[in-house]
Amino acid sequence: MNDDFKGRVALVTGGGSGIGRAACLAFAQRGAAVAVVDRHAQAAAATCELIAAAGGQALAITADIADEDAVSRMVAECIARFGKLDCAFNNAGIGGAEIESAGRKLGDIDKSAWDKMIAINLTGVWLCMKAELAAMQAHGGAIVNTASIAGVIGLSRSGPYTASKHGVVGLTKVAALEYSEAGIRVNAICPGYVATPLTQASLAARGDKILARLPIGRFAEANEIAELAVWLCSDSASYVTGSAYDIDGGYVARI
Ligand code: NAP
Repeated sequence: MNDDFKGRVALVTGGGSGIGRAACLAFAQRGAAVAVVDRHAQAAAATCELIAAAGGQALAITADIADEDAVSRMVAECIARFGKLDCAFNNAGIGGAEIESAGRKLGDIDKSAWDKMIAINLTGVWLCMKAELAAMQAHGGAIVNTASIAGVIGLSRSGPYTASKHGVVGLTKVAALEYSEAGIRVNAICPGYVATPLTQASLAARGDKILARLPIGRFAEANEIAELAVWLCSDSASYVTGSAYDIDGGYVARI
């Protein structure tokens, strides 16, 4: 794998926790300057401290990806500090437990809960891509969006989450078609069950049942997911665009 990101600039949303933090560290380890974006300033700053302690270069940016002005500012801040944007990992998102109708069937979901999920997990990714594509248009780049196994299969009682992640896969494909000419590759990753704060409660409640159906026999670590995102941004993935990669320990293969 050509993993030399020296001289490149990577932006990661949700960089203050879980998969996003692991990706920030992985980009930095390979020489990239990293814009660490999170809605919590402290979380983003903590990731930057880890990068700095390892000798890397990072900038903490506070932004809510559901807010178009904040997202424009996010890309502007990255460019003001590092001069350009080469790679973007649109990874920030919320799980089903963060909306009020969590665990309900489609017919029992409140519209406000639906709107919250779609605003962050789908509209947020589109807003990020919109700003990033504009920034990459002149020189090309690579974008990776975090979908989920819920982007390729239906997860019962996770209707809004499933719809949002199927949407991310669709957006990814359209962006790949529309921006290949500009030298911009766009892909999605579809993780299965990863041990992060987002899944802490659900894995504690029904982890055993999930494990029983997981061919690989364990949950993923965040860095295992981050590695795929970083590879997709690397020159080693120069022919890969418009794809959605399952990274799920075989979960979807069984279905
Ligand atoms: P995580 O540890 O909760 O990290 C997500 C980070 O994104 C958190 O710091 C979160 O802040 C931030 N964030 C949430 N909404 C945001 C917003 N509107 N603007 C900016 N930042 C925001 O979760 P994770 O497991 O690493 O999840 C990362 C991505 O992977 C998500 O898109 C998730 O859907 C996807 N995914 C996760 C799994 C899994 O098993 N963990 C599986 C498939 C897909 P808060 O702490 O305030 O929420």
